Amino acid sequence: MELSHRGKHFVELAAESERDLRFLLNIPDNYKTLFLQGGATQHFAQLPMNFARRDQIADYIVTGHWSEKAVREAKPLVDVRVAANSAASNYTAIPARDSWALHDDAAYVHYTPNETIHGVEFQQIPDVGKVPLFADMSSDILSRPVDVSKFGVIYAGAQKNIGAAGLVVMIVREDLLERCPKDMPKIFNYAEHAAHDSMLNTPNTFGWYLAGLVFKWLLREGGLVAMGERNRAKMALLYGCIDGSGGFYRNPVDKAARSWMNVPFTLSDDNLNAAFLKESEGAGLMALRGHKAVGGMRASLYNAVPMQAVQALVDFMRDFARRNG
Ligand code: PMP
Repeated sequence: MELSHRGKHFVELAAESERDLRFLLNIPDNYKTLFLQGGATQHFAQLPMNFARRDQIADYIVTGHWSEKAVREAKPLVDVRVAANSAASNYTAIPARDSWALHDDAAYVHYTPNETIHGVEFQQIPDVGKVPLFADMSSDILSRPVDVSKFGVIYAGAQKNIGAAGLVVMIVREDLLERCPKDMPKIFNYAEHAAHDSMLNTPNTFGWYLAGLVFKWLLREGGLVAMGERNRAKMALLYGCIDGSGGFYRNPVDKAARSWMNVPFTLSDDNLNAAFLKESEGAGLMALRGHKAVGGMRASLYNAVPMQAVQALVDFMRDFARRNG
């Protein structure tokens, strides 16, 4: 933890982790990878600071809590236009692409491929034409293969599928870095971070080290194709249990937009929630309480969750339903 970021050991570790990440995601040569700080939330604000003028339009697709937050942070810095919004469905669906009101002259289009709280996930990368597509992949990065060349910027807080909180990984198309204003503080300027290999100041060295270990683990496990197969099987098992429960459990999300990573579900009777949480914890199944914005329960199936854990959850859920249904 005390290794200097300028020392040989750390510089080698950083280069190797970047190589591994590039290999895992098949990142094209004209993209830079950055290892930053501030959480995804800081980058909600930093993205418009770097890639748009204040009077320029930026299109936002709002499909849940986190895309709402991205809008809120960007608003003081750019002419935010909400090009599509699924709030009317309580964020249980993704607005059809042909309903989006996009602007050809927008600085970028921002969206959240996976809404962590609402459990809503895009199953395809939306086609937004020539305008660069920016994606907050905090809760679905590395869960399966993705075509990086379709994006202008991908960014993700590390605390789900990459490692420990405190690190943000960003993948940015090089030509976009020319937009970064020269007169802004360097510490907020992505082009400066890129020019200094993410060591403009002391990076989160331990978080970066952990990320490197996770990338090695993913490579050993067979990379993102293997991860995608595993994650598909995990979510199929859990949604199958919910759908097959005769209404005892319900997932409110449109089947075409169900998340692979975050599965919110409610019980037929809210009065059973407390017993469900207490008994599930007793069975070693932790952190199932849903976010207060949605209520009920939420099971997160990130890469680190093995199939056996999902099987244990499903076994518990079936038994609980049998005893309380
Ligand atoms: N975006 C998404 C999709 C998230 O899931 C989260 C955190 N759960 C955030 C942004 C915010 O991340 P942070 O707290 O690291 O800023």
